[in-house]
Amino acid sequence: MSKQPLSDYKEFRKVLKEAQNIVVLTGAGVSAESGIPVFRGVGGLWRTHRATDLATLEAFKTNPALVWEFYHYRRDIAFNSYPNTAHKALALYEKICKEQGRKFCIITQNVDGLHRKAGSENVLELHGSLQKVICTKCKQIEINMQNPICEALRGRGDPNEEQDLPVIPVDDLPKCTKCQSLVRPYIVWFGENLDPDVLNKSSKGNLYKLAICVS
Ligand SMILES: [Zn+2]
Repeated sequence: MSKQPLSDYKEFRKVLKEAQNIVVLTGAGVSAESGIPVFRGVGGLWRTHRATDLATLEAFKTNPALVWEFYHYRRDIAFNSYPNTAHKALALYEKICKEQGRKFCIITQNVDGLHRKAGSENVLELHGSLQKVICTKCKQIEINMQNPICEALRGRGDPNEEQDLPVIPVDDLPKCTKCQSLVRPYIVWFGENLDPDVLNKSSKGNLYKLAICVS
């Protein structure tokens, strides 16, 4: 088993065929083909805001409505996007591995849910998910596939508005079903730590013999 990165396709196929434990790491590049914005570099702007400035707890505390508008925009794109050939190939390969009794896992930085939409089952979402929310008070995590997530966000989130629209009152933003407090997107923002559970499961990836990086 080579510990060097493989650039030889033939050799790669051989190693892949023999591998019993496979982990695939994916990032934004996989979803770009499905039309998911990457939000990197100069193009990383939403209206006049840098996406990286909106994806912080400070931004949410200062202006939860604006951050929710940004995430409504991102959810809307993700929910209306379809898995591409790469997502489908990985889902198919997982199925094949399962039938052959081999282990297969995807560890992704993507939050768009497209791996699961393609049929992948063993997926660890390192940076959270646009399909989930977490309560700011009781910390309950819920799956929420509603689009828009609340009526106040309907028609909002357009990245091309020249300026921000009037702020939505906090009372009209998405609420926790358990305690009725404000929820936020279940996303690991800049400056936050990864979910220890997810991290723990991912680190078991060290036990995997073959790691494939698709970024
Ligand atoms: Zn709650």
